Amino acid sequence: MNDKVRLRMCAGCRNKIHQTHLIRICRKENEIIVDKNNQTGGRGAYICSKECLDKAKKTNQFNRLLKSSIPEEIYNELYEEFK
Ligand SMILES: [Zn+2]
Repeated sequence: MNDKVRLRMCAGCRNKIHQTHLIRICRKENEIIVDKNNQTGGRGAYICSKECLDKAKKTNQFNRLLKSSIPEEIYNELYEEFK
Protein backbone atom coordinates (compact mmCIF):
# COMPACT_ATOMS: atom_id res chain seq x y z
CA MET A 1 0.00 0.00 0.00
CA ASN A 2 1.13 3.56 -0.63
CA ASP A 3 0.08 6.86 0.95
CA LYS A 4 -2.30 7.79 -1.80
CA VAL A 5 -5.31 9.51 -0.30
CA ARG A 6 -8.33 7.34 -0.64
CA LEU A 7 -11.21 9.58 -1.58
CA ARG A 8 -14.65 8.18 -1.98
CA MET A 9 -17.89 9.75 -3.07
CA CYS A 10 -20.60 10.21 -0.50
CA ALA A 11 -23.91 8.82 -1.76
CA GLY A 12 -25.77 11.79 -0.26
CA CYS A 13 -23.83 14.99 -1.03
CA ARG A 14 -21.64 13.46 -3.75
CA ASN A 15 -18.55 15.14 -2.38
CA LYS A 16 -15.29 13.26 -2.55
CA ILE A 17 -14.30 12.65 1.03
CA HIS A 18 -11.47 10.83 2.72
CA GLN A 19 -12.47 7.27 3.43
CA THR A 20 -11.83 7.55 7.16
CA HIS A 21 -14.68 10.08 7.47
CA LEU A 22 -17.18 7.90 5.69
CA ILE A 23 -19.22 4.92 6.68
CA ARG A 24 -19.29 2.19 4.13
CA ILE A 25 -22.08 -0.16 3.39
CA CYS A 26 -21.59 -2.96 0.98
CA ARG A 27 -23.21 -5.88 -0.65
CA LYS A 28 -21.66 -9.22 -0.05
CA GLU A 29 -23.29 -11.69 -2.35
CA ASN A 30 -26.96 -11.05 -1.57
CA GLU A 31 -26.46 -9.60 1.85
CA ILE A 32 -26.22 -5.89 2.69
CA ILE A 33 -23.90 -5.09 5.56
CA VAL A 34 -22.49 -2.03 7.30
CA ASP A 35 -18.79 -2.44 6.72
CA LYS A 36 -17.32 -0.77 9.78
CA ASN A 37 -13.75 -1.81 9.16
CA ASN A 38 -13.67 -1.17 5.45
CA GLN A 39 -12.57 -4.71 4.96
CA THR A 40 -15.28 -6.32 3.01
CA GLY A 41 -14.87 -6.59 -0.69
CA GLY A 42 -17.62 -6.26 -3.23
CA ARG A 43 -19.80 -3.40 -4.30
CA GLY A 44 -19.87 -0.59 -1.77
CA ALA A 45 -21.38 2.81 -1.09
CA TYR A 46 -20.31 5.54 1.30
CA ILE A 47 -22.07 8.09 3.43
CA CYS A 48 -20.60 11.04 5.38
CA SER A 49 -23.30 12.34 7.70
CA LYS A 50 -26.77 11.85 9.07
CA GLU A 51 -28.09 14.55 6.72
CA CYS A 52 -26.66 12.69 3.75
CA LEU A 53 -28.12 9.47 5.04
CA ASP A 54 -31.56 11.11 5.16
CA LYS A 55 -31.10 12.25 1.60
CA ALA A 56 -29.74 8.94 0.34
CA LYS A 57 -32.59 7.09 1.97
CA LYS A 58 -35.22 9.38 0.48
CA THR A 59 -33.80 9.10 -3.01
CA ASN A 60 -32.92 5.40 -2.74
CA GLN A 61 -29.30 6.10 -3.63
CA PHE A 62 -28.05 2.95 -1.95
CA ASN A 63 -30.50 0.80 -3.84
CA ARG A 64 -29.10 2.22 -7.02
CA LEU A 65 -25.44 2.00 -6.07
CA LEU A 66 -25.64 -1.48 -4.62
CA LYS A 67 -28.23 -2.71 -7.09
CA SER A 68 -30.22 -4.15 -4.25
CA SER A 69 -32.92 -3.06 -1.84
CA ILE A 70 -31.66 -1.91 1.54
CA PRO A 71 -33.34 -3.43 4.61
CA GLU A 72 -34.67 -1.00 7.21
CA GLU A 73 -32.29 -2.52 9.79
CA ILE A 74 -29.35 -1.33 7.76
CA TYR A 75 -30.61 2.25 7.86
CA ASN A 76 -31.12 1.90 11.59
CA GLU A 77 -27.59 0.61 11.96
CA LEU A 78 -26.26 3.53 9.94
CA TYR A 79 -28.20 6.07 12.00
CA GLU A 80 -26.64 4.53 15.08
CA GLU A 81 -23.22 5.26 13.63
CA PHE A 82 -24.02 8.95 13.30
CA LYS A 83 -25.38 9.39 16.81
ZN1 LIG B 1 -22.27 13.48 2.30
